[in-house]
Amino acid sequence: MSRIQIEGVTRRFAGARRDAGPVTAVDRVWIDVADGEFLVLLGPSGCGKSTLLRMVAGLTAPSAGRILLDGRDITATPPRDRDLAMVFQSYALYPHLSVGRNIGFPLRTRGRRRADIDARVAEVAAVLGLEGLLDRRPRALSGGQRQRVALARALVRDPGAFLLDEPLSNLDATLRTATRAELGDLHRRLGATFLYVTHDQVEAMTMATRVAVLNGGRLEQLGTPEEVYDAPASVFVAGFIGSPAIRLLPARLWSDAGELRAVGADLEIPLGPGEDPDGRDVLVGARPEHVRLAAPGATGPLWRGTVRLVENLGGEEVAHVAVGGHDEPGSRIAVRGPRPLGLAVGNAVALTCDPDRVHLFDGAGGRRLV
Ligand code: ATP
Repeated sequence: MSRIQIEGVTRRFAGARRDAGPVTAVDRVWIDVADGEFLVLLGPSGCGKSTLLRMVAGLTAPSAGRILLDGRDITATPPRDRDLAMVFQSYALYPHLSVGRNIGFPLRTRGRRRADIDARVAEVAAVLGLEGLLDRRPRALSGGQRQRVALARALVRDPGAFLLDEPLSNLDATLRTATRAELGDLHRRLGATFLYVTHDQVEAMTMATRVAVLNGGRLEQLGTPEEVYDAPASVFVAGFIGSPAIRLLPARLWSDAGELRAVGADLEIPLGPGEDPDGRDVLVGARPEHVRLAAPGATGPLWRGTVRLVENLGGEEVAHVAVGGHDEPGSRIAVRGPRPLGLAVGNAVALTCDPDRVHLFDGAGGRRLV
């Protein structure tokens, strides 16, 4: 069993080109991965998630900070002595070896006896439903089967923790959904620690016990899937998680007789009692599934605008509403609900949401205020 502590870890690279400056791929990241957790490192391409995982695996050395495994400092420990197993996006299977020999490979390199290896390979193959495939070569397998062989090879040593780098990204959409469920199930059965890299928010939301959202090498937020979705710590997290993305519009905070309001062009959002320096710039919005049509004379959050686009998603529709002259597609307020929403392009509409669904961020720093 394994707890992984990432303590103030930084990794700088010299610039890729001679004229480019150094890159800080990972910047002072602290994450304490509890024993048995499924922790997902989530972020866009280039945010540093693979570099962070490779440092835990021992494949890349940190420039600063340290990494502990079950309380033991492993920052300088070679990869093979770390009791961690890594699964790569490419699966990295040996093409000339059978599935069985691929799975048993880590045991052979450790000099284990043939009979022990065969028994353990059979055991792991049964866990992952690979029993009938042990004599095949990797090229005779589907993408999903190859992915399971890579997992089996990681599993065979019974490591304390699994490090997985985008293991589903080579699978088609249907297989990815099925394998996602299998991985979640495997994690529950094994009770092992999983540290999992992805840029796919759905993978993070469905499998993680906690999500670490990275941006530009920095940890933006660490929380349960519900926390990062319901209370994103920054504009970046709010925009990265959720589809269609939340739309935030500029407003100013005013306090009027002890009542705080965010006021902008065609929007007025009461925020409850509170005093604040008048005129502070903010960004305000709500997730598309929380926005709805306002009844005439309704009180509460209010946006006024014109429907520019209605998208049919099958069971649901999304209407995009230009508010306060903000008519770029990324700034239109999105309303999502069961089809038909009853809205058409050109309709003038008033929108609202429950007050506790309003997200408010500092206009300058982008940090969450409510
Ligand atoms: P992706 O999802 O595209 O793999 P990522 O979030 O995993 O992205 P990293 O691969 O960790 O990101 O890269 C983070 C940053 O560090 C990027 O700017 C990348 O170009 C840079 N970087 C990574 N490895 C090296 C290296 N060996 N030399 C120079 N720069 C590197």
